[in-house]
Amino acid sequence: MTPFAEPIYVTSPLLPPLEAVMARLADVWASRWITNNGQQNVLLEAALRAYLGVPALSLFNNGTIALLAAVRALDLHGEVITTPFTFPATPHALAWNGITPVFVDVDPVRLTLNPRAVEKAITPQTTGILAVHVYGLPCDVDGLQQVARRHGLKVLYDGAHAFATTVNGAGIGTFGDMTMYSFHATKLFHTAEGGALACGEPALREQVDRLRNFGIIDPETVESVGLNGKMSEMQAALGLAVLDCLPPEIAARKALLALYRRLLGNLAGVTMLPDIPGIEISHQYCVIRIDEERFGCSRDDLHRELKKYNVICRKYFFPLCSDYACYSELPSADPANLPTARTAARQVLCLPLYGSLQPSAVEYICEIIGALHGCVA
Ligand SMILES: *Cc1c(COP(=O)(O)O)cnc(C)c1O
Repeated sequence: MTPFAEPIYVTSPLLPPLEAVMARLADVWASRWITNNGQQNVLLEAALRAYLGVPALSLFNNGTIALLAAVRALDLHGEVITTPFTFPATPHALAWNGITPVFVDVDPVRLTLNPRAVEKAITPQTTGILAVHVYGLPCDVDGLQQVARRHGLKVLYDGAHAFATTVNGAGIGTFGDMTMYSFHATKLFHTAEGGALACGEPALREQVDRLRNFGIIDPETVESVGLNGKMSEMQAALGLAVLDCLPPEIAARKALLALYRRLLGNLAGVTMLPDIPGIEISHQYCVIRIDEERFGCSRDDLHRELKKYNVICRKYFFPLCSDYACYSELPSADPANLPTARTAARQVLCLPLYGSLQPSAVEYICEIIGALHGCVA
């Protein structure tokens, strides 16, 4: 088998027709208003509110800053319980706010925070839960809400993977106190760099908007220690053009995911993400888990071998955040505390998935994986 002539990356940004972006930029130029809640921001915010089915939404310059502001707006402090199986931005948003992240283990199927493990980790210092809808699979939102209610905790969701996820028809951003979205170029919907916060409680939105703009209330009044989280008009214009292209992008990804499932689903030692009734997942990632014993080689072997064929997969999420030098000394980072997350981190591999990826490329990638099955030294 010959390698792909060009590298196939795990993702490729959705690029709308350049003319569509230029037409919107022409409006921005004509207005001479390039940031600070201009017309493109107003339009994108409204369009996304409708698309995501959330009552209130604030756009941000990126998802990490949105998360920092959410932590502040919810007055989280002391300890916050979170998952080690995520991108560094999740625990960093806590640590940057002077909060101690407390890592607990994940559910073996969804790979999201396990509500029973969360409840066991609560101390008098705990003020909230920061959970991640990893790969766009929703957390056990009811289970987490019950724990939060019993103990008076806030629930903040990192929904960076969960743009179009719905649970029984409800947008993922309607759960918990707030949900962060990331609009980074690598995500399903993007503004090159960008993000947003959805608030279940519309009153919170005002506070979020103030934090996003230095804590300024009016030209002579600054109320709180805010930051600069504003999205520029160029980003919002790009986002509006990307949003127009989203339906065919999602349809193409759905078809590719079905193809992966058909070609890999019966391969011994390969598990795809679970199909859960009532849940429409975002189509941001194609994740497989490799059971080394049954597959015949490890995830790391497969990752390395695929690279030889110019297929550049990613080990999302390895290592666990709890293994980063900045967190590994925390008591909750003890490997014995996180066995399920540890196993997952050793098994997961994200395969290429984006709308412009050719079905024939997916077929060839699956052929390569099939050929490596059981025969890598
Ligand atoms: C991408 C990502 C973020 C960070 O979002 P940015 O918009 O890049 O700041 C946070 N959490 C998770 C889980 C992510 O995948």
